[in-house]
Amino acid sequence: MINGKSNSKSNTRSGFKTPDGIEGQNVPLSEAASAGGGQTPSQKVSVSVCAAQRSYRTPYRLLKPLLWTGGNRMPIAEQMVKLVEGMEVVKEMFEEGARLKAEHGPDKVFDFSLGNPDVPPPPEFKKVLRELVNDESLGHGYTPNPGHPRVRQALADYLSGEHHMKFTPELIVMTVGAAGALNNIFRALVDPGEEILVPSPYFVGYAHYATMSNAVIKTAHTNEAFHLDVAAIQKAITEKTRVMLINSPNNPTGAVYSATELAELGVVLDKASKKFGKRIYLLADEPYCKITYDVQVPSVYQAYAHTITVNSYSKSLSLAGERIGYLAVHPEAEDALLVVGAAAVSNTVLCVNPPSLVQLAIGNLQGVTVDISIYRRRRDILCQGLEEIGYEFNVPEGAFYLFPRSPIADDVKFAGILKEELILAVPGVSFGAPGYFRLSYAVPDSTINGSMEGFRRALQKA
Ligand code: PLP
Repeated sequence: MINGKSNSKSNTRSGFKTPDGIEGQNVPLSEAASAGGGQTPSQKVSVSVCAAQRSYRTPYRLLKPLLWTGGNRMPIAEQMVKLVEGMEVVKEMFEEGARLKAEHGPDKVFDFSLGNPDVPPPPEFKKVLRELVNDESLGHGYTPNPGHPRVRQALADYLSGEHHMKFTPELIVMTVGAAGALNNIFRALVDPGEEILVPSPYFVGYAHYATMSNAVIKTAHTNEAFHLDVAAIQKAITEKTRVMLINSPNNPTGAVYSATELAELGVVLDKASKKFGKRIYLLADEPYCKITYDVQVPSVYQAYAHTITVNSYSKSLSLAGERIGYLAVHPEAEDALLVVGAAAVSNTVLCVNPPSLVQLAIGNLQGVTVDISIYRRRRDILCQGLEEIGYEFNVPEGAFYLFPRSPIADDVKFAGILKEELILAVPGVSFGAPGYFRLSYAVPDSTINGSMEGFRRALQKA
């Protein structure tokens, strides 16, 4: 099962059809909440919040006195309430981790909750930075909205080689990470009430970004191995669908979609665009595309002409704090320049352009990555250890997350059992997939090795 061979346990998801139980339904943050237990409309919260409410302090209860102003308007925008609640959960998980570390000592707490890369950036990064800082001609003024021309040119050259098609700088917008690119492109493409269709499980940030665009996240289930179920996607597309959003290598599952499944998806999107008389864009969020094991990420541009990729250097160069990424529109997309123009304007008014210095730095680092063998080693240690203990999971093909099945149906409860063993994990419900839990192996080997006895005891307790 290790080293990329197919996992003997990959078919263990028996009965897994609709991990979030809401396939085929619209699940804006607000509506998903009412499934979480009898809130009034003004108390609507996200799926992830509901999950966390059961295991951590209740963010809404804490917020409520601030929000309920005796019939007067809330002190903050209603749209922000949902986001503030979501962020409270993350903050509380972080604080809980810090509390446990202070109480027991940092080496006694096994924190698998964060996707914050700890592998150092490659040495080339500092070298390029030094050269830039010593360059007397370097300016520090505003950059053009879509980014530095010479950086976009460097990226266009790199992408042309990678995807075997001719990219020009006009098709590229430099952004504040992948998050900035997703926000920009949602704003550029999606009208209020339109749908963004995403395979589930999915990265929870999407729901927050969609909220800010007044868009609706709709999910389609994946198959047993967390790969695309193209028939389910086809069924979920409606006249309101504007964007099909995919993420490969996937957070939280580690799945890497094959060229065949992407091609099938392209055919479905093309047919649906014709059927509904409106262009559905394929948005491929690929911040982990350089972190793969024994497979390569196929070019999604080959699958569908109306594709926009979103990427960043947060993971591939371990530069998450530098907030640098980009979006790139397919050269043959209809209205490509209009889309780029809208995203560039959105870049300025919504997210602010990425800092000039780090734009210039990554312009000189195309094709450079962190040492991926570190993540491979950690994946193998973690998978081997957990398999021996008896956990069930699909071996990740990319990214740095493992998404095991929870030994009990209630993944939030199981995350609580793990916490008793000083192991911090994120319940699957936070990704629209109850019954699972996510472990980030962007952690030192010692964390993985040290946690195994706790994982064993947690399985016995469950
Ligand atoms: N998309 C996915 C799937 C992610 O996991 C993340 C961050 O963890 C992002 C987007 C945002 O990445 P960035 O740091 O580049 O904004």
